[in-house]
Amino acid sequence: MSQIVKILSIENLTHDVLRIRTEKPAVIQYNPGQAADISINKSGWEQELRAFTFTSLPEDDFIEFSIKTYPSHHGVTEQLLSLSKGDELIIHDVFGDIGYKGEGLFIAGGAGVTPFIAILKHLEKNHTIGNNKLLFANKSRGDIILEDKFKDILGDHFINILSDEDLDGYEHGFISADLIQKIKDEHTKYYYLCGPEPMMQAVEKQLASLSISNEFIVREGF
Ligand SMILES: Cc1cc2nc3c(=O)[nH]c(=O)nc-3n(C[C@H](O)[C@H](O)[C@H](O)COP(=O)(O)OP(=O)(O)OC[C@H]3O[C@@H](n4cnc5c(N)ncnc54)[C@H](O)[C@@H]3O)c2cc1C
Repeated sequence: MSQIVKILSIENLTHDVLRIRTEKPAVIQYNPGQAADISINKSGWEQELRAFTFTSLPEDDFIEFSIKTYPSHHGVTEQLLSLSKGDELIIHDVFGDIGYKGEGLFIAGGAGVTPFIAILKHLEKNHTIGNNKLLFANKSRGDIILEDKFKDILGDHFINILSDEDLDGYEHGFISADLIQKIKDEHTKYYYLCGPEPMMQAVEKQLASLSISNEFIVREGF
Protein backbone atom coordinates (compact mmCIF):
# COMPACT_ATOMS: atom_id res chain seq x y z
CA MET A 1 0.00 0.00 0.00
CA SER A 2 1.54 3.31 -1.01
CA GLN A 3 1.69 6.33 1.29
CA ILE A 4 1.94 10.01 0.42
CA VAL A 5 4.34 11.85 2.73
CA LYS A 6 5.23 15.54 2.99
CA ILE A 7 8.86 16.66 2.83
CA LEU A 8 9.94 18.24 6.14
CA SER A 9 13.42 19.26 4.99
CA ILE A 10 15.73 18.84 2.04
CA GLU A 11 19.42 19.76 2.14
CA ASN A 12 22.79 18.87 0.64
CA LEU A 13 24.98 16.29 2.43
CA THR A 14 27.67 16.59 -0.26
CA HIS A 15 27.87 18.46 -3.58
CA ASP A 16 25.55 15.86 -5.22
CA VAL A 17 23.87 13.99 -2.34
CA LEU A 18 20.59 15.21 -0.85
CA ARG A 19 19.27 14.42 2.60
CA ILE A 20 15.49 14.38 2.45
CA ARG A 21 13.40 14.04 5.59
CA THR A 22 9.67 13.38 5.42
CA GLU A 23 6.89 12.82 7.87
CA LYS A 24 6.47 9.19 8.98
CA PRO A 25 3.08 7.48 8.78
CA ALA A 26 2.76 4.78 11.46
CA VAL A 27 2.04 2.11 8.83
CA ILE A 28 5.52 2.41 7.34
CA GLN A 29 7.75 -0.14 9.06
CA TYR A 30 11.29 -1.09 8.09
CA ASN A 31 14.51 -2.57 9.44
CA PRO A 32 17.90 -0.79 9.32
CA GLY A 33 19.37 -1.54 5.88
CA GLN A 34 16.04 -1.80 4.07
CA ALA A 35 14.87 0.32 1.16
CA ALA A 36 11.60 1.40 -0.42
CA ASP A 37 10.38 2.23 -3.88
CA ILE A 38 9.79 5.97 -4.01
CA SER A 39 8.15 8.28 -6.52
CA ILE A 40 7.38 11.99 -6.57
CA ASN A 41 3.78 13.11 -6.08
CA LYS A 42 3.88 15.47 -9.02
CA SER A 43 2.01 15.21 -12.32
CA GLY A 44 3.73 12.68 -14.61
CA TRP A 45 6.12 11.38 -11.93
CA GLU A 46 3.81 9.36 -9.65
CA GLN A 47 4.57 6.07 -11.44
CA GLU A 48 8.35 6.60 -11.82
CA LEU A 49 9.50 4.32 -8.99
CA ARG A 50 13.13 4.26 -7.83
CA ALA A 51 14.68 2.40 -4.88
CA PHE A 52 16.14 4.38 -1.96
CA THR A 53 17.32 3.18 1.44
CA PHE A 54 16.02 4.49 4.75
CA THR A 55 18.88 6.27 6.50
CA SER A 56 16.69 7.12 9.49
CA LEU A 57 16.14 4.57 12.25
CA PRO A 58 12.81 2.72 12.52
CA GLU A 59 12.01 4.46 15.82
CA ASP A 60 12.66 8.01 14.50
CA ASP A 61 9.54 10.14 14.11
CA PHE A 62 10.60 11.10 10.57
CA ILE A 63 11.78 9.20 7.50
CA GLU A 64 15.14 10.06 5.97
CA PHE A 65 16.73 9.24 2.62
CA SER A 66 20.26 10.14 1.45
CA ILE A 67 20.16 10.35 -2.30
CA LYS A 68 22.87 10.82 -4.89
CA THR A 69 21.52 12.91 -7.76
CA TYR A 70 22.20 12.32 -11.45
CA PRO A 71 20.96 15.37 -13.38
CA SER A 72 22.37 13.89 -16.62
CA HIS A 73 19.90 10.94 -16.44
CA HIS A 74 16.93 13.36 -16.57
CA GLY A 75 15.16 10.94 -14.20
CA VAL A 76 13.79 10.96 -10.67
CA THR A 77 16.91 12.16 -8.88
CA GLU A 78 17.11 15.21 -11.17
CA GLN A 79 13.49 16.01 -10.25
CA LEU A 80 14.31 15.69 -6.53
CA LEU A 81 16.71 18.62 -6.93
CA SER A 82 13.76 20.92 -7.64
CA LEU A 83 11.69 19.87 -4.60
CA SER A 84 11.34 21.81 -1.37
CA LYS A 85 9.71 21.60 2.06
CA GLY A 86 5.99 20.82 1.73
CA ASP A 87 6.31 18.92 -1.57
CA GLU A 88 5.30 15.25 -1.45
CA LEU A 89 6.83 11.84 -2.12
CA ILE A 90 5.00 8.53 -2.48
CA ILE A 91 6.46 5.60 -0.56
CA HIS A 92 5.59 2.24 -2.13
CA ASP A 93 6.89 -1.24 -1.15
CA VAL A 94 9.59 -1.70 1.52
CA PHE A 95 12.23 -4.35 0.74
CA GLY A 96 15.96 -5.12 0.94
CA ASP A 97 18.33 -7.96 1.64
CA ILE A 98 20.97 -6.24 3.74
CA GLY A 99 20.53 -6.76 7.45
CA TYR A 100 23.02 -7.03 10.29
CA LYS A 101 24.17 -10.58 11.06
CA GLY A 102 27.22 -9.96 13.21
CA GLU A 103 30.61 -8.25 13.35
CA GLY A 104 32.41 -7.72 10.12
CA LEU A 105 33.70 -5.41 7.43
CA PHE A 106 31.26 -3.12 5.62
CA ILE A 107 32.48 -2.32 2.11
CA ALA A 108 30.68 0.50 0.30
CA GLY A 109 31.05 2.35 -2.96
CA GLY A 110 29.57 5.87 -3.16
CA ALA A 111 25.83 5.98 -2.41
CA GLY A 112 26.09 2.23 -1.64
CA VAL A 113 26.92 3.33 1.89
CA THR A 114 23.26 4.17 2.62
CA PRO A 115 22.21 0.79 4.10
CA PHE A 116 25.29 0.96 6.33
CA ILE A 117 24.33 4.44 7.58
CA ALA A 118 21.18 2.97 9.12
CA ILE A 119 22.83 -0.23 10.36
CA LEU A 120 25.85 1.52 11.94
CA LYS A 121 23.68 4.26 13.53
CA HIS A 122 21.50 1.48 14.97
CA LEU A 123 24.52 -0.38 16.41
CA GLU A 124 25.93 2.85 17.85
CA LYS A 125 22.63 3.67 19.52
CA ASN A 126 22.52 0.21 21.12
CA HIS A 127 26.20 0.40 22.19
CA THR A 128 26.94 -2.67 20.06
CA ILE A 129 29.27 -1.17 17.46
CA GLY A 130 31.96 -3.64 18.62
CA ASN A 131 34.76 -4.33 16.15
CA ASN A 132 32.83 -3.51 13.00
CA LYS A 133 34.78 -1.69 10.31
CA LEU A 134 33.79 0.39 7.28
CA LEU A 135 35.82 0.58 4.08
CA PHE A 136 34.34 3.36 1.97
CA ALA A 137 35.37 3.89 -1.67
CA ASN A 138 34.83 7.22 -3.43
CA LYS A 139 36.39 9.26 -6.20
CA SER A 140 37.41 12.22 -4.05
CA ARG A 141 37.16 13.51 -0.50
CA GLY A 142 34.25 15.78 -1.38
CA ASP A 143 32.19 12.71 -2.33
CA ILE A 144 32.42 11.10 1.13
CA ILE A 145 28.95 10.99 2.68
CA LEU A 146 28.86 11.67 6.47
CA GLU A 147 32.64 11.48 6.92
CA ASP A 148 32.52 13.12 10.37
CA LYS A 149 29.63 10.94 11.53
CA PHE A 150 31.42 7.72 10.55
CA LYS A 151 34.63 8.94 12.25
CA ASP A 152 32.62 9.55 15.44
CA ILE A 153 30.99 6.13 15.32
CA LEU A 154 33.98 4.04 14.19
CA GLY A 155 37.21 5.98 14.90
CA ASP A 156 40.17 4.09 13.35
CA HIS A 157 37.78 1.44 12.08
CA PHE A 158 36.65 3.85 9.35
CA ILE A 159 38.91 3.53 6.31
CA ASN A 160 38.48 5.65 3.19
CA ILE A 161 39.86 4.89 -0.24
CA LEU A 162 39.86 7.54 -2.98
CA SER A 163 40.41 6.68 -6.65
CA ASP A 164 41.04 10.22 -7.92
CA GLU A 165 42.85 11.88 -5.01
CA ASP A 166 46.02 10.93 -3.14
CA LEU A 167 45.72 12.42 0.36
CA ASP A 168 47.40 11.78 3.72
CA GLY A 169 45.24 9.51 5.87
CA TYR A 170 43.30 8.11 2.89
CA GLU A 171 44.05 4.99 0.86
CA HIS A 172 44.53 5.69 -2.83
CA GLY A 173 43.28 3.71 -5.83
CA PHE A 174 40.67 0.96 -5.98
CA ILE A 175 39.81 -1.65 -3.35
CA SER A 176 42.14 -4.66 -3.64
CA ALA A 177 42.44 -8.06 -1.98
CA ASP A 178 45.66 -6.78 -0.33
CA LEU A 179 43.79 -3.86 1.24
CA ILE A 180 40.98 -6.11 2.53
CA GLN A 181 43.61 -8.50 3.93
CA LYS A 182 45.31 -5.57 5.70
CA ILE A 183 42.05 -4.33 7.23
CA LYS A 184 40.37 -7.57 8.28
CA ASP A 185 41.18 -9.07 11.66
CA GLU A 186 40.10 -11.93 13.89
CA HIS A 187 36.73 -10.23 14.52
CA THR A 188 35.86 -9.87 10.83
CA LYS A 189 33.32 -12.63 10.27
CA TYR A 190 30.87 -11.07 7.79
CA TYR A 191 31.53 -8.97 4.70
CA TYR A 192 28.72 -6.55 3.83
CA LEU A 193 28.91 -5.20 0.28
CA CYS A 194 26.90 -2.45 -1.33
CA GLY A 195 27.70 -0.32 -4.36
CA PRO A 196 27.64 -0.21 -8.13
CA GLU A 197 27.56 -3.67 -9.76
CA PRO A 198 31.10 -3.54 -11.29
CA MET A 199 32.59 -2.67 -7.88
CA MET A 200 30.60 -5.46 -6.20
CA GLN A 201 31.79 -8.03 -8.73
CA ALA A 202 35.41 -6.95 -8.33
CA VAL A 203 35.20 -7.12 -4.51
CA GLU A 204 33.47 -10.52 -4.59
CA LYS A 205 36.36 -11.89 -6.68
CA GLN A 206 38.82 -10.44 -4.16
CA LEU A 207 36.94 -12.04 -1.26
CA ALA A 208 36.97 -15.38 -3.09
CA SER A 209 40.75 -15.03 -3.55
CA LEU A 210 40.99 -14.55 0.23
CA SER A 211 38.99 -17.79 0.71
CA ILE A 212 35.98 -15.98 2.22
CA SER A 213 33.02 -18.28 1.81
CA ASN A 214 29.74 -17.01 0.30
CA GLU A 215 27.82 -17.68 3.50
CA PHE A 216 29.72 -14.77 5.11
CA ILE A 217 29.01 -12.30 2.31
CA VAL A 218 25.92 -10.08 2.57
CA ARG A 219 25.30 -8.00 -0.55
CA GLU A 220 23.01 -5.50 -2.22
CA GLY A 221 23.59 -4.14 -5.74
CA PHE A 222 22.70 -0.50 -6.52
C1 LIG B 1 17.81 -1.57 -3.14
C2 LIG B 1 18.38 -0.27 -3.63
C3 LIG B 1 18.55 0.79 -2.75
C4 LIG B 1 19.07 2.01 -3.18
N1 LIG B 1 19.26 3.02 -2.27
C5 LIG B 1 19.80 4.19 -2.67
C6 LIG B 1 20.03 5.25 -1.74
O1 LIG B 1 19.69 5.16 -0.55
N2 LIG B 1 20.61 6.38 -2.19
C7 LIG B 1 20.98 6.54 -3.51
O2 LIG B 1 21.52 7.60 -3.85
N3 LIG B 1 20.77 5.56 -4.41
C8 LIG B 1 20.18 4.40 -4.04
N4 LIG B 1 19.96 3.41 -4.97
C9 LIG B 1 20.24 3.70 -6.40
C10 LIG B 1 19.07 4.53 -6.97
O3 LIG B 1 17.92 3.70 -7.02
C11 LIG B 1 19.38 5.08 -8.37
O4 LIG B 1 20.47 5.95 -8.31
C12 LIG B 1 18.17 5.82 -8.91
O5 LIG B 1 17.20 4.90 -9.29
C13 LIG B 1 18.51 6.71 -10.07
O6 LIG B 1 17.28 7.23 -10.57
P1 LIG B 1 17.20 8.31 -11.72
O7 LIG B 1 15.78 8.31 -12.19
O8 LIG B 1 17.76 9.62 -11.32
O9 LIG B 1 18.14 7.77 -12.84
P2 LIG B 1 18.08 6.39 -13.65
O10 LIG B 1 16.86 5.63 -13.37
O11 LIG B 1 19.40 5.73 -13.50
O12 LIG B 1 18.01 6.93 -15.09
C14 LIG B 1 16.84 7.54 -15.71
C15 LIG B 1 16.93 7.30 -17.19
O13 LIG B 1 18.17 7.84 -17.69
C16 LIG B 1 18.80 6.95 -18.56
N5 LIG B 1 20.21 6.76 -18.08
C17 LIG B 1 20.66 5.77 -17.29
N6 LIG B 1 21.98 5.90 -17.06
C18 LIG B 1 22.38 7.00 -17.74
C19 LIG B 1 23.62 7.65 -17.91
N7 LIG B 1 24.75 7.19 -17.33
N8 LIG B 1 23.64 8.78 -18.65
C20 LIG B 1 22.52 9.25 -19.25
N9 LIG B 1 21.32 8.66 -19.12
C21 LIG B 1 21.24 7.55 -18.40
C22 LIG B 1 18.01 5.66 -18.55
O14 LIG B 1 17.40 5.52 -19.82
C23 LIG B 1 16.97 5.82 -17.48
O15 LIG B 1 15.69 5.41 -17.89
C24 LIG B 1 19.42 2.19 -4.55
C25 LIG B 1 19.23 1.14 -5.45
C26 LIG B 1 18.72 -0.08 -5.00
C27 LIG B 1 18.52 -1.18 -5.99
